[in-house]
Amino acid sequence: MDLEVVTVGTELLLGFTLDTNAADIARSLASIGVRVVRLTTVGDDARAIRGAVSDGLHRSGFVIVTGGLGPTRDDITKQAVADIYRAPLELDEDYLSVLEQRFARLGRGPMPESNRTQAQVPRGAIVLPNRRGTAPGLWLHGEPGSTVLLPGIPQEMRSLLEREVMPRLSRLASGASGEATVTLSRTLRTTGVSESGLADQIGHLDRTFDPVSLAYLPGLDGVDLRLSACQMTRTAAESALARAVDQLRPVLGQNLYGEGDVQLAAVVLERLRASAWQLATAESCTGGLIGAKLTAVPGSSDVYVGGVVCYSNESKARDLGVPEELLRDHGAVSEAVVRAMAEGVCRRFGTAVGIAVTGIAGPGGGSDQKPRGTVWIAVQRRSRVESIRRWFPGGREEVRQRSAQAALDLVRRLTD
Ligand code: AMP
Ligand code: MG
Repeated sequence: MDLEVVTVGTELLLGFTLDTNAADIARSLASIGVRVVRLTTVGDDARAIRGAVSDGLHRSGFVIVTGGLGPTRDDITKQAVADIYRAPLELDEDYLSVLEQRFARLGRGPMPESNRTQAQVPRGAIVLPNRRGTAPGLWLHGEPGSTVLLPGIPQEMRSLLEREVMPRLSRLASGASGEATVTLSRTLRTTGVSESGLADQIGHLDRTFDPVSLAYLPGLDGVDLRLSACQMTRTAAESALARAVDQLRPVLGQNLYGEGDVQLAAVVLERLRASAWQLATAESCTGGLIGAKLTAVPGSSDVYVGGVVCYSNESKARDLGVPEELLRDHGAVSEAVVRAMAEGVCRRFGTAVGIAVTGIAGPGGGSDQKPRGTVWIAVQRRSRVESIRRWFPGGREEVRQRSAQAALDLVRRLTD
């Protein structure tokens, strides 16, 4: 089954809002065998909306529209699409009372008059209840095809898509072709190895994955490997993906840290938890990014005790006990200092494991001996300290992000 997506919003055309809805819809529908064959974006303009939706309906017979369902004057999608079906808007009394009850529950006084417009429904449309907000989804069918309208706010769109739209589409897709064909993907996450390094490692396997395709997706966290099985029955896709993953795992070895949307910080915390080790951080150029990654993982407090952002030399000396002469003789970005930071933070917090990072994030501060992007990382584990030097490319933010990821990765590799 093929369909088109139309996203509505002048803010999308101006580049102020990123169109995440189109991507979310395409990704979700692929997993139930529905193919998005065209994405169109238009502004909050009645003619443009009518044009895009009716073109899509004439081409594919099915269009999903997001955006422009709010209660304000710039939200005109519903009227524009109702016009295509020549369906007048009528007040849906049931939905109106749902809305009124919702406002009463929130205790913010009577419902604003403008919200009443959200209970106006094109005649004959199915109302899809929105648990996250006030604009309902709407499903219109007739000549020249079916149109589903969803609110623009991403959380509301996603909730309606999953609860109301996908189950119905899934039935339609499998009804149309016996067993539906789907597109499924699995993502293997690697770090500490470049894209070309990975290609050297696994390139020879590429052909053997057929019909699974492999994409290298480099980012600041490392290189993700996305395996996709397109337009196959669910069972065939699942087993083809499992075969490819089984082939890749042993070859990737330690460079592989997880699958799907797993975060490196979560893997590190799990490893340390298994050994009943606690962790503290001493961060200079990353300014707390490692702490932020660790605390983003729910339940991290049993492992992650705390940290020091020791940005100045004084703080490195005063808060972590880094000897003044090390700072003077070697400079803040040096192996001697980063090791003393790791030892100091373990002492200070009484932890078995400590991470320390000091580097030159740029744009200034570099020299011939220590160019911009030079970063020293140390990990203390019990009484052993490991230290490594890295040179990261890119601007300030890129160096900081890569440093934080590399520091976590060193802990992971040492606790394997
Ligand atoms: P609307 O339903 O048009 O009133 O949109 C409400 C909010 O959702 C706006 O603040 C937009 O920034 C956001 N939004 C609308 N369309 C999209 C989209 N395609 N992707 C991501 N956000 C969107
Ligand atoms: Mg809008």
